[in-house]
Amino acid sequence: MRKVLILGSTGSIGTQALDVVGRSDELQVIGLAAGRGWETVLEQAREHGVPAVALADLEAAERARGEWSGRVLAGEEGVRELIASSGADLVLNGIVGAAGLASTVVALSGGTDIALANKESLVVGGELVMALAEGTGARLLPVDSEHSALHQLIGAEAPGTVERLVLTASGGPFRGREDLAGVSVADALAHPTWRMGGRITIDSASLMNKGFEAIEAHHLFTVPYERIEVVVHPQSLVHSLIQLIDGSSLAHLGYPDMRVPISYALHFPDRAEVDVPRLDLAAAGELSFEAPDLETFGCLRLALAAGEAGGTAPCVLNAADEVAVAAFLDGRIPFTGIAAVIEHVLEEMPAQPVSHFDDLFATDAEARERSRETIAGLAKV
Ligand code: NDP
Repeated sequence: MRKVLILGSTGSIGTQALDVVGRSDELQVIGLAAGRGWETVLEQAREHGVPAVALADLEAAERARGEWSGRVLAGEEGVRELIASSGADLVLNGIVGAAGLASTVVALSGGTDIALANKESLVVGGELVMALAEGTGARLLPVDSEHSALHQLIGAEAPGTVERLVLTASGGPFRGREDLAGVSVADALAHPTWRMGGRITIDSASLMNKGFEAIEAHHLFTVPYERIEVVVHPQSLVHSLIQLIDGSSLAHLGYPDMRVPISYALHFPDRAEVDVPRLDLAAAGELSFEAPDLETFGCLRLALAAGEAGGTAPCVLNAADEVAVAAFLDGRIPFTGIAAVIEHVLEEMPAQPVSHFDDLFATDAEARERSRETIAGLAKV
């Protein structure tokens, strides 16, 4: 029986992970953590017989303590304590945002394998996170569908034979459009192929998500950016490809359903049955591909440049994006303001070398502050 801790259990990834675990005889949930959704966490704990939970929000933890006799840990520190003390074999990190980095660090430091959905851990702290995993021997198993596809494809090849990685992008709801100035929050949240949490859905509409994924792939698979390509594929049936030294290209296909990559990461190196429709290519009809429009989708261009710059730049990129996306969702800036805010903050904070996680936490805080100032400035114009 593999003992699993699920972080971000109330979210899109977390609830689907619980669905996968609930159908498995080989997996047992031993702890849950979330931000403030204490009622959902307690329901999940009761349903899955979980002995301990953590809530990052102190008030939410207090409310949970009043309603439940199990172990409730409080605050960001409580989440870290749960990870360090749970005795889990595997931690699924489904926390959204840079807030997930500290959890990744605690799990890896203790030598615990991670099923990683929280791509921000690698966007913000890629080099240090990979070095930590290597140092402790803990495995990072990608949950992102593209990286799960690449993990499977690369894993079947001999070292030195993979020439290029090709990440597919659905293109989001604004594919083919050139003027995004007046798009609404509802338009941006209407993703054509995937159902996900709010932040990643907006990042998918701006293609920032694909930029994050290129940075994630760069670190996970140790591939330089010039050998990582992004191609738009609106049907979301091809989850990514690798190109090999003999001219072959290998692809991973399936309907878009996160339970498949979640199950792969939770059961690795084995596979378990997942109750999803099997791919019917004749019914799917046409598969189409096109180059991304880097001019209209400035976030992808900014992300690739920040990845190339390295150091603190991807951390600044992510922090500015988190703040700008929240402002867009609140109606404080237009959709095109997201890229404008990020570009401005990246210009104000040129890339610096990173030698410790504390450098990243300080950079993250400063970039958030500068992003808020930039947004306040925009509102006055
Ligand atoms: P959601 O917004 O749906 O869920 C986020 C989860 O994180 C919630 O459970 C939330 O709790 C919890 N959370 C927020 N802050 C903290 C914190 N400080 N400590 C502990 N828990 C916290 O996001 P998604 O599930 O969509 O995405 C999660 C991650 O997975 C992101 O990094 C995303 O990029 C990645 N991902 C998601 C995919 C998807 O299909 N959704 C696909 C591929 C990657 P609460 O709401 O209770 O406050």
